[in-house]
Amino acid sequence: MQVLVEKQKQFFNTHTTKDISFRKEQLDKLERILKKNEKALFEAIYSDFKKSQFDTFTTELALLYHDIKQAKKCVKKWAEIKRVKTNFLNFPAKSYIIPEPFGVCLVIGAWNYPYQLSLAPAIAAIAAGNTVIIKPSEIPTKTSAVMASIINKNFPKEFFTVVEGGITETSELLEQKFDKIFFTGSTQVGKIVYQAAAKNITPVTLELGGKSPAFVTKSANLKMTVKRLVWAKFLNAGQTCIAPDYVMVHKSIEKEFLKQVINEIKKEHFTVENGNYVQIINAKNLSRLEQLLQPEKIYFGGKIDADNLILQPTVMHQVTFEDKVMQDEIFGPILPVLSYDSLPEAIKQVSKLPKPLSCYVFSKNKNEIKQVLHQLSFGGGAVNEAVMHITNPNLPFGGVGASGIGNYHGEAGFKAFSHYKSVLDKPTWIELNLKYYPHTAKKLSIIKKILKF
Ligand code: NAD
Repeated sequence: MQVLVEKQKQFFNTHTTKDISFRKEQLDKLERILKKNEKALFEAIYSDFKKSQFDTFTTELALLYHDIKQAKKCVKKWAEIKRVKTNFLNFPAKSYIIPEPFGVCLVIGAWNYPYQLSLAPAIAAIAAGNTVIIKPSEIPTKTSAVMASIINKNFPKEFFTVVEGGITETSELLEQKFDKIFFTGSTQVGKIVYQAAAKNITPVTLELGGKSPAFVTKSANLKMTVKRLVWAKFLNAGQTCIAPDYVMVHKSIEKEFLKQVINEIKKEHFTVENGNYVQIINAKNLSRLEQLLQPEKIYFGGKIDADNLILQPTVMHQVTFEDKVMQDEIFGPILPVLSYDSLPEAIKQVSKLPKPLSCYVFSKNKNEIKQVLHQLSFGGGAVNEAVMHITNPNLPFGGVGASGIGNYHGEAGFKAFSHYKSVLDKPTWIELNLKYYPHTAKKLSIIKKILKF
């Protein structure tokens, strides 16, 4: 690991990666090899947890192709030196900001969207002019292997490479001195990464998880709400960091809401065979999810097929904040429904939990929407929609508090991998002597006049 990081450092110091056409060529190449190897990418992820081609294309590859296309189109502009005003005290002078790459970057990925979560940050890092080491999650073994194989075959390791491995390899990598660490994963491991980064004052982006709430108020368009919520919750069998973790529904519509949710689940027919459902990633996670099911609170579903790692879409009702299912991020196909009487009270309850990655409000009432959006702190979210905000590259994506630090996608991704170097650029033909000794009363009075204090 030490040799690899050193090699990347040496390569970065040749300044090759700073050249805009180099960045574009590398992004072009990445796009070409991803397209060429699409079949292998589809097969690997299907083998790992039965994710369909449709879902893999729409929720992983399409986002990557978009990011590459946008970066190639915009990188020149994003990397431009930006002139800013110079304050009166420094006249005459120019002031500008130079975006510069950090250097050697480590990207640690999570398993649930294995291609997107490793490669999207890498695309942003390359666009910003860095070298990159990706450490994908070791849990989906085939996707990790296919990424390593296609990247390592096509890129020199001193510029862009994949290191496979689990805790041991990640820990060894974290002992090295990086210029930037970008981590996607759980809050718990995020803390380990943050501590390792602190040793070298390495800047971090932490894309973590949390319990993302969905509020359904009594003014909501119930039919549309249910359709969108059910899709968002059971996509990837609930193993989505921004999936609505639980629903807060107004008491007066709770019964009807539950009825419609069940109808929608039945209508959708979530099965691996239909291509709209996936396995729970492993037996450990399946058993973790099983522990969250309180039989007396299961309203629908709850069936487990342990041999095939399937947990049927499950809805729990009469759930309270004290229940086990409300203690941690669920990260699986269990939807707890909690009812509320007053929206301000419901918001107050939710605000006692760690700040979530996302929040959704389904309502037709502007005042209710405003209350949720402005009284709760969360990474990002949507009104009358769920999950889809991630697909708009103009919306920086990231968490706050326990759900993360920093954000990316679109230009925000470029910024996440850039340092903005501020420069004051002075000519030498004139000098005001105010700052130099002797510090007289007259000079001080002039300074006060200039500064207007
Ligand atoms: P995880 O934290 O277990 O693992 C993430 C990465 O950290 C993996 O590459 C893993 O190898 C490594 N890792 C695990 N334990 C480690 C340790 N002790 N020391 C060093 N490295 C270690 O997360 P996961 O199970 O892969 O993903 C699920 C979590 O990720 C959920 O909490 C989910 O909400 C979150 N997530 C967040 C986002 C986001 O964009 N914010 C996206 C996807 C997933």
